[in-house]
This record gives sequence, structure tokens and C-alpha cells, in this order.
Amino acid sequence: MSNIVTIHEMEETFLSVDLSSYDTITYDDGLVSQLEHRHKFPNHRSIFFISPAFIQRGVNDLGQECMTLEHVKMLIDEGFEIGGHSYSHAKLGQFKNLVEISTYIIHDTKQCAKWFETNLGFLPKSFAFPYNDDCKGVYKAVAKKYGFKELFGLERKPIETLLRN
Ligand SMILES: [Zn+2]
Repeated sequence: MSNIVTIHEMEETFLSVDLSSYDTITYDDGLVSQLEHRHKFPNHRSIFFISPAFIQRGVNDLGQECMTLEHVKMLIDEGFEIGGHSYSHAKLGQFKNLVEISTYIIHDTKQCAKWFETNLGFLPKSFAFPYNDDCKGVYKAVAKKYGFKELFGLERKPIETLLRN
């Protein structure tokens, strides 16, 4: 497995982090703050993980501003990689049992795949689990079933943990 860093809300201080031992940078939630510095790490594979519900609503679950569909298309035009990050980004902990979780994951992943096909014309290769929760493998199996090939979760290192004190 490669060395992967994850970024949510982008901050200026992250630009000074030494990422030379990491080969992939993943940006979660499709946040507007990630756009400004997108060219600062040109030697890394960059993947922007998009949750369609956030794109439609304009904010994520923390109220942080999200990209528009036009922004996502611009990233693709610029050669950046887009990944799926579920359709509605729900917390699996809110469900009562595994049956409810599985039902949600299947419905949501199907909806997610359909959104990409309809709005962007392709299904991304990559998928990142919201909150890195792969539900002990259940989510992995469903994401693969719906065509996502490369799955990302807890193995990613939050960039905040790499900041020097
Ligand atoms: Zn997320």
C-alpha cells in the first residue's frame, strides 16, 4: 500500500508540511478551500473525493463550503482525479443494526454511482469511506460490487498529524 495523506479543510500551514515520503494526497468532501492550493503538490497523485449530496447542498456536514458541479468538472478538465465518497455521507453509527446499515450502504452506493455516471459521464475508479468507516469489510464489498476498484479508509494519514510543533 502506498503512503497516503488526507486533507479536509485546506489550510496555509499545510503547505509547509514535508510530503516527500507520501505519494498520494486525498482531499475529502469536495471543499472549496481545496481548490486554491490544488497545484501546490504537483508531484503527488491527487484525488478529490466527492459526496454528491454536499455538492448539491453547497456545504458538508460541518457547514464547510463545498464545490459546485462546475468546480468538479474543472478539476477533471485539469487532469485531477475524482473519487466517490458516498452519496449522502451518513454516519453508520446512527443505524440500529447491520441490516439497516447494509440497506443504507447498498442504496447509497448505487445512488452515488448513478450520480457520477449521469453528471460526469463516468464512474470513478476510487472510493473513500465517509469517516473512514468500512463497516468491517461490508462497505468494501458493496463499493466493489458497484464498480469502485480502489478503496480508501483508515490507512490514510491526516495531514494535521504531520504538522511540526
Ligand atoms: Zn468526508
